[in-house]
Amino acid sequence: MRFLLNILFFLSYFISSAQINRCSTDEYRNNLKDRGLYNYHKQEIVYNKLLNVNYTIPVVVHVLYNNNNQNISDERIFSQIQTLNEDYNMSNLDLINVPLEFQSNIGNVGFSFCLVQQDLQGNPFTGINRVYTEVDIFQGFTDDMKFSSQGGVDAWDPLNYLNIWVCDLSGNTLGFATMPGDVDPELDGVVIDYEYFGVDLSSDSPYNLGRTGTHEIGHYFNLEHTFYAGCSDWDGCDDTPSLSSPTYGCPAFPQESCQSINMTMNYMDYTNDACMHMFTICQAEIMVNALSTYRSDLISDNDCSIKLIDYVEDKSVNLYPNPFSDILTIDIQNENILMYDIYGRNVLNQYIENDNNLNLSYLPSGNYFIFIKNKIYKIIKN
Ligand code: ZN
Ligand code: CA
Repeated sequence: MRFLLNILFFLSYFISSAQINRCSTDEYRNNLKDRGLYNYHKQEIVYNKLLNVNYTIPVVVHVLYNNNNQNISDERIFSQIQTLNEDYNMSNLDLINVPLEFQSNIGNVGFSFCLVQQDLQGNPFTGINRVYTEVDIFQGFTDDMKFSSQGGVDAWDPLNYLNIWVCDLSGNTLGFATMPGDVDPELDGVVIDYEYFGVDLSSDSPYNLGRTGTHEIGHYFNLEHTFYAGCSDWDGCDDTPSLSSPTYGCPAFPQESCQSINMTMNYMDYTNDACMHMFTICQAEIMVNALSTYRSDLISDNDCSIKLIDYVEDKSVNLYPNPFSDILTIDIQNENILMYDIYGRNVLNQYIENDNNLNLSYLPSGNYFIFIKNKIYKIIKN
C-alpha cells in the first residue's frame, strides 16, 4: 500500500512539474466569461501602414512578495525592460536565427518601454512598486493580484500606464494578459510569475530570458496566439503560417502543419525563450493599431521623461551635481557601480578605485539609476 502511495505521489509530482502553462491568456479569457467579467467582442483588425514612429510605453512593475525569493532584484526588472526594448525594436541579437524562409516577414513594432518616473501623487518614483503580501501564492489566472483588498495591489491609472504584476502564480502558469477591451480598466494589464520575469542566467529554466514578458505584452497589444483555433488563421495575419497546435521546446527547422512550414520562432508561439525571435509585419501593424486606437492614452503624455531634481532614495553616498552635465562625482572608493537608463539598458559597469569623477559626456540627457552597494540612486543628466 505504502509502495503504491509512493508511486502515486511520484506520478502526480511528475505530471504537475511536467505541465507548463506557457501562457494562460486563453484560459483566463474563459475564466472571465465564467465570472461574467468579459466585455470583448472580436475587434475588427484595422491595418495601419507602419510609419516607423517610435512610441514610448510607460510601465509600472508591481512586485508582490511574501518571501525574499519573490522580491526579485532591480536588475531583473531592468533586464525585462531591456529585453522588451530589444524585441520590440528588432535589436535582439538572436534575430539572426530566423530562417531565411521567414526573414522578409520580420516586423519592427517600434515601441520603447520605460519605467514611469513619478507615482500617482506626482512624486519621484523608480517605476518599481514593491508590496509585501500575506498571500504566498496567487491562483493561476484569477485577478486577486490586481486588488489590494485581495492581497494584491490595485492597478495604477491603467489607461495611462501599462501595469505589470509580478508574483508567484500557482499551476505552473508563467503569465497571462488582457487584450484591449477585454475587461474593465481595473483588471487591465499583464501578470507574470516572478521566476520568469526578466533575464535570469542563473536559472536552468527554458523560460529565463524574459520572453514571457515579450509574449504577454503582445497579447496586451491585441495579438492572438499563432496557433489559436488550430489551422483557422484566427490571428488575422497572413504572414504567420497557420499552426495546428502550440509548439513547445526548441524544434529543429522546418516543422510542418496545416500544409505550411511552422513559424515556431514567433513570439506568439510557445517555444523556449531562446528559440523565439520575431514578430511579423502584420503583428507589428496590429500592435501599432491597438496602441493608436484602443490604448492611445498610453502615449498621451510621456511619464518617463519628467525631470525631477534632488532625488536620491538613499543619501549615504553623495552624487553631485544632480543634475549633472558632463562630470558626475560619486563619493566612494573601491566600489563597483552599475548604471541603467529608464529603458533598462546597462550604460555603465565600472569599478571605482580613487578617481571618482566620471566623465559621462557621451550619455544622452535623461534620467538614470545608479546602483551602489545594493542601493539605488536616481540621477539626471542635462
Ligand atoms: Zn499567450
Ligand atoms: Ca496566421
